[in-house]
Amino acid sequence: MEGDIKRLAEMIGECRRAVVFTGAGISTESGIPDFRSPGGLWSRYKPIEFQDFVASEDARRESWRIKFSFDETMANAQPNRGHRAVANLVRRGIVSHVVTQNVDGLHQRSGVPDEQVIELHGNSTYAKCLSCGQQHNLAPIKDDFMRDETLPVCDCGGLVKTATISFGQSMPEDEMLRAEQATKDCDLFLAVGSSLVVYPAAGFPVMAKRNHANLVIITRDPTDLDSAADLVLHREIGDVLGGAVGVN
Ligand code: ZN
Repeated sequence: MEGDIKRLAEMIGECRRAVVFTGAGISTESGIPDFRSPGGLWSRYKPIEFQDFVASEDARRESWRIKFSFDETMANAQPNRGHRAVANLVRRGIVSHVVTQNVDGLHQRSGVPDEQVIELHGNSTYAKCLSCGQQHNLAPIKDDFMRDETLPVCDCGGLVKTATISFGQSMPEDEMLRAEQATKDCDLFLAVGSSLVVYPAAGFPVMAKRNHANLVIITRDPTDLDSAADLVLHREIGDVLGGAVGVN
């Protein structure tokens, strides 16, 4: 095992309880483009602000058009070696929670139980009523929309939107609290594939460090928090995690 991966394996072996925090980088290795990067979704489309979605039928149509134009890439994406390594650590009881900025559901599909995934930006694999919170499957919504751009309406009359947190929508309170608690309870915090610039999410590694946890950052590009970390690996996530955990 190479030096820095070996060091990571040791830190994992020595910790009492770890938290994994993931961003777009772990899923780009599954072929899901980083929305915020140059060439990503939000450089091609103007993001629909939450207030506009609620106020305007045109904005809702545009939002579903974008969603379904991007759907195939999402549907074809499979969990990769990085996701599998994280799932392995959860199964072994080493990682208590996976806190993620991703909305692709790949942690759950790799075998991490729902209750151990904390989704800070929601989930794009299903929809939710904005009034009553009822979950809705995307398949029938897509059929209706592709036919004649019929917009989904809940039985309660409420607006239905993908279960993601949009620009202009407040962070989910419950998830933020759970992520905070998990961060405070861990002694090893692995920040994986996040540029660590989007606040408040990026505050968690800082919180972990302040709480005397070891901080490991695994990303392709340098981050502003690198100098605060105990170990930094600027390499492919799948190789690093898979190598350290012993998962292919
Ligand atoms: Zn409803």
